[in-house]
Amino acid sequence: MSTTTEAPTRGLIEIHNVHKSFHGVEVLKGIDLTVHPGEVIALLGPSGSGKSTLLRTINHLETVDAGSVTVDDEFIGYELRGGKLHELREREILRRRTQVGIVFQNFHLFPHLTAVENITEAPLALKRLSKSDARELALSLLDRVGLADKADAYPRQLSGGQQQRVAIARALALQPKVLLFDEPTSALDPELVGEVLDVIRDLAKLGTTLVIVTHEIGFAREVADRVVFLDQGRIVEQGTPAEVLTRPKNPRTQEFLAKVL
Ligand code: ADP
Ligand code: MG
Repeated sequence: MSTTTEAPTRGLIEIHNVHKSFHGVEVLKGIDLTVHPGEVIALLGPSGSGKSTLLRTINHLETVDAGSVTVDDEFIGYELRGGKLHELREREILRRRTQVGIVFQNFHLFPHLTAVENITEAPLALKRLSKSDARELALSLLDRVGLADKADAYPRQLSGGQQQRVAIARALALQPKVLLFDEPTSALDPELVGEVLDVIRDLAKLGTTLVIVTHEIGFAREVADRVVFLDQGRIVEQGTPAEVLTRPKNPRTQEFLAKVL
């Protein structure tokens, strides 16, 4: 059936009323967020506001106490059987986790593996790929992040910016539906920030769905379709970069921007 009105786009990530506590302290206090396919979200907020915890719930690294998170209609942590939610088995968690790539502040590369080996590890373990196909995939990803010549280098032989680009290539190797970045440039020397932002900018241009926690306000303004501001476990403001970054309404957002800009 065709209609003239556009169907509402379903979120690729749907976060509904998510609550999460650690040791009785609530750090996520009812988060609602829908991320549409191809959307680039910049998640901003002061230290301790719950940004990392929120990202981690999208990648099965944290369970939620209440509410739900789905990625492409599949629940994080649970599955619906017979009208009831059941906790997922480890194997299924691993499968679902491959659909969400995550890149951390400190790269988290395996130090004893070369760049190529870091990238091929997961595809070899989780996908039915031959060693030569996996290497070919890794080489093409390294080329994409500008590191074709570093295939056989170990992390210690790479700069922080190069390590982070390998980490991005590794996250892409499983062809995730969405890529999460948790302060991807915060651990880098200032002169290395640009090369990592360039790679993320390219991903955004290609239409990859991205959720980026960052303090790089200029970058957020440039690449984000939507800026979401988190404060003390709540989304207190969201909108276009112009709305949130240029004309913030919430005093907490104003205060934060005054500090980081
Ligand atoms: P942000 O990334 O915005 O800085 P986090 O999500 O890392 O914030 O943390 C939010 C709050 O939750 C902080 O007070 C932090 O100390 C606490 N927290 C995060 N992870 C844990 C954990 N695994 N155990 C206990 N407390 C945690
Ligand atoms: Mg954090």
